[in-house]
Amino acid sequence: MISLKGRRRRRLLTSAFRPDWREIIERNVPLFLRLPDSDKAELLGHVQVFVAEKIWEGCGGLELTDEIRITIAAQACVLLLHRDSDYYPRVKVILVYPSSYVATDERSIGGGIWEEGEEHRLGHTQQQLGAIVLAWDAALHGSRVYGDGQNLVLHEFAHQLDFEGWGTDGTPMLDTRQQYLSWARVLGAEYEALRRMDDAGEPSLLNAYGATNPAEFFAVVTEFFFEKPVELRAKHPALYDELKGFYRQDPADLTVGE
Ligand SMILES: [Zn+2]
Repeated sequence: MISLKGRRRRRLLTSAFRPDWREIIERNVPLFLRLPDSDKAELLGHVQVFVAEKIWEGCGGLELTDEIRITIAAQACVLLLHRDSDYYPRVKVILVYPSSYVATDERSIGGGIWEEGEEHRLGHTQQQLGAIVLAWDAALHGSRVYGDGQNLVLHEFAHQLDFEGWGTDGTPMLDTRQQYLSWARVLGAEYEALRRMDDAGEPSLLNAYGATNPAEFFAVVTEFFFEKPVELRAKHPALYDELKGFYRQDPADLTVGE
């Protein structure tokens, strides 16, 4: 028996995509333009489901528009291509601020002491939050500027994929025991290497923010996998292969001949 949700999804996946929405994607999401046609079609289907199923809220005076919803959705759905997906089931709400916002946070200042402070954020999500929070200007900039290894939307949604695995350890849901072993070995070693380089002040292709913890490492390498695939494959081939296996995409191959 097919559920109501399943029927609704199937209808959304196959209904015609609005031309004005496609224009928004072509204008704002260069990642989309690099995809093969079959992936483009799959992505547009996912966008229709994603936009319809999530609750969208503008915060800090931001009035939500189709451009905001579609630009965010198209990026988030790149991570769902070719995979058996339930559309980020933990994310019920997407909260969008016009720009960086101030959040109150508790942070450890060492010695078991926690301090409450305010910090400016561009995006945020948490395992129990049920939401993703994004600054619209950063989400748009991260998308339009392709190839710098930074993409806020991919970063925050990669955290959600991590949460679909066990805990927040930088390991998403994988298919086989063999994959888990290989993932732990390769990503563990790459994470430790980035930490060592960061401590020593040595430059790395990867953003040093990935040395924060294994969860941030996975989010950061996801950004690089899609934004700098050729460089990532050249400098970190084993890491590239693990991500290629999980995402079932080979973005470095799409850029051959450029
Ligand atoms: Zn993060």
